[in-house]
Amino acid sequence: MRFEPTEIARLYGRSRVGVVVHRDLIAVYVNDAYANMLGRKDTKDFMSEPDLRQYIPPSFHFEAGKLAYEFQDANGFHGWKKVYNIRTDGKPVWMEISDETVEWGDSNAVLTTAQLIDNGTTAMQVDHMLGRSFIGVMVHRDMTALYVNDAFAHLMGAENASAFMEKPDVLRFIPEVDKERALKHVAAILHGDREGERHRVQDILDDGSAVWRDLTDERILWHDGQAAILTTAHDVRDEVEMNKALMRSKAGLEEAVTEVIRMVPSAVGMLDTRQDVAHYNREFARLFGAGDMDGDGPLTFEIDILRGMYALMIKSGHGHANIESAQTPSGCHADIRMNLMEDGGVMVSALDISSHKRKEQHLDTLASTDPLTGALNRRGFESAVSRLREIRQLKGKVWQFGLVVLDLDHFKNVNDTHGHSAGDRILEKVALTLRQALRDDDLVVRLGGEEFAVLLPSATAAVTKRIADRLATMIRAIEVSAEASEDQAVSITASFGVTVGGELRGQFVELDQALLTADRAMYAAKDAGRDGIKFLIFDDQVDN
Ligand code: GH3
Ligand code: MG
Ligand code: MG
Repeated sequence: MRFEPTEIARLYGRSRVGVVVHRDLIAVYVNDAYANMLGRKDTKDFMSEPDLRQYIPPSFHFEAGKLAYEFQDANGFHGWKKVYNIRTDGKPVWMEISDETVEWGDSNAVLTTAQLIDNGTTAMQVDHMLGRSFIGVMVHRDMTALYVNDAFAHLMGAENASAFMEKPDVLRFIPEVDKERALKHVAAILHGDREGERHRVQDILDDGSAVWRDLTDERILWHDGQAAILTTAHDVRDEVEMNKALMRSKAGLEEAVTEVIRMVPSAVGMLDTRQDVAHYNREFARLFGAGDMDGDGPLTFEIDILRGMYALMIKSGHGHANIESAQTPSGCHADIRMNLMEDGGVMVSALDISSHKRKEQHLDTLASTDPLTGALNRRGFESAVSRLREIRQLKGKVWQFGLVVLDLDHFKNVNDTHGHSAGDRILEKVALTLRQALRDDDLVVRLGGEEFAVLLPSATAAVTKRIADRLATMIRAIEVSAEASEDQAVSITASFGVTVGGELRGQFVELDQALLTADRAMYAAKDAGRDGIKFLIFDDQVDN
C-alpha cells in the first residue's frame, strides 16, 4: 500500500490506536497516541528523538532490528504480536502491535499500530514472546524464579522449564564469593537505581559443574503489580573455553619466546614506549648494563646510543634502524639493530663483534707492519700518512711534514762479518731507537732491507734536520754482540737524507715525491762518505 505522510496523519492523527511509521527503527511518522504510550508529550516531542531503540529493551535490539529489516523488504501485513517497551519514565509497557510494509516516499517503511494491553506482565505473555527463544529467559524477584523458559532451564542443567521451577531458588547457583555482590546488583536493578548491562557470570550447577553466562537484567512490572527482573542469559561456555585455550597457547608462546630470547647468543632487549628497558637477556645486560649484573639490586642501563638510534628511526619513518660497529658502554663493539613494534615499543638486537673487530685490527696490523722490527711497512706508512693528513686538514691546519730517509752503511759487511742474526738484531735495535727517540705522532717505517724512513708531521725543515742529527748520534751508539763472540761489539752508522713535504712555498709536495727527494739526499750523503746528513727540497739541487 502506498501512503503519503499527509494521508497517514489524516487517517491516524486523532486515532486512539498508536501508529508509528519507521525505517531501520527510526520513526518517520508517529501519532500522538503512540507518542503518549511511550511517555512522550506529543508527536513533536517524540520526533525530536526518533530512534525507536530507546524504547526497546536492549536484549531485543538485535531481533527488532532484524525484523524491521526483513519487513522493509517484504510486502503486506505481518501479523499481531505482544511486546513490551520501556517508557521514557523507565516503566515497562505492554502492547499488542501489528506490522505492515508500506511504500513511503521513495522506499519501503514499516507501519506499526499499537494498543496497550496491560499494565503488568503475565507469565503467559512472557512465554508467548520468549518461551521458544533459544536465548535463556528468567523472571525473578528476591532470588526466586517466577518464570523460566526451556532454554534457561537447559542452561542451568534442568530437563525443562517446569522441572526447573520445582526448585526456583537461584541464589544457590551463585558462588559464595559473588553472592553479596549479586544481591546488591539485583536490588539496585529492582529499585530502578541501575540499568542492567550485559555482564559475564559463572554459576555452579547442582551437579557441581560450572557454567558461564552473559546476563542482561531489566526491570519489568510483573502481573502481581510488583516489579521483577527479567534476565536474559546467553550461553558463553564455548567462548570462555576458547578464550582459555587461547590464553594457554598465548602463555605457552610467550614462554617459548622468552626461552628463545634467553638462549640466543646475541643481545636481545625490549624498550617500552618511554624507551626504558622492559625486557632483556643476559647478553643485553652485559653489553648495555651499568650495574652489578649478579647482585639483587636493580641493574641500570646505559642506553644513550639506543635512544639516539630511536630518535633517528622515528625521524626516518622507516620503523627500523641499524648501526654497524657501535661502541657500547661496556667497551664492546656491537652491530645493533632496532625495530619499532606495533605497540610503540622497540625491539633491540645487538651482536658483540669485539673479537671480530680485534681480529680485524690484528690482521690490519699484520698487513701494515714489518714483522722483524715492528716498524710500519710501506702500505702501513701510506695509510697512516693519509690518516694524519685528513686529521690535520679536518682541523683546518696546513699539512706539512718533515721526512728523513736513512740507510745503514755497509750493512752487507755486517752480515758477512758478524752473521745474519747480528744483522737482524741491529735492524731491530735501529727501529727501537727511532721509535723511542720520536713522538707518538711520528711515523717510523722500514722501507725495505736496511732502509728506514721517519715522518714528522708538521715539522719544519730546521726541526727535521735537528732530529736527523740526533738520530744519527743515537744510531752510532747502538751496539749488539757478534754471532761468533759475545764479547765483540758490533756497531753501525747510517746515511741520512732529509726533506720536507706537503704545502710548501705555494706548491704541494706529495709523499711519493718527498720520498724520492729524501732518497736522493740520502744517496748524496752516501757519496759524501756515509755517516752523514744531506738536506734537499723538491726540485732543488743537492744542498751542501
Ligand atoms: P751501503 O752503505 O751502500 O748502503 O752498503 P750496504 O751494504 O748497506 O748496501 P747493500 O744494498 O749492498 O746491502 C744491503 C744489505 O742489507 C744486503 C742484505 O744482506 C742486507 N739485508 C737486507 N735485509 C736484511 C734483513 O732483514 N736482515 C739482515 N740481516 N740483513 C738484511
Ligand atoms: Mg746500506
Ligand atoms: Mg740499502
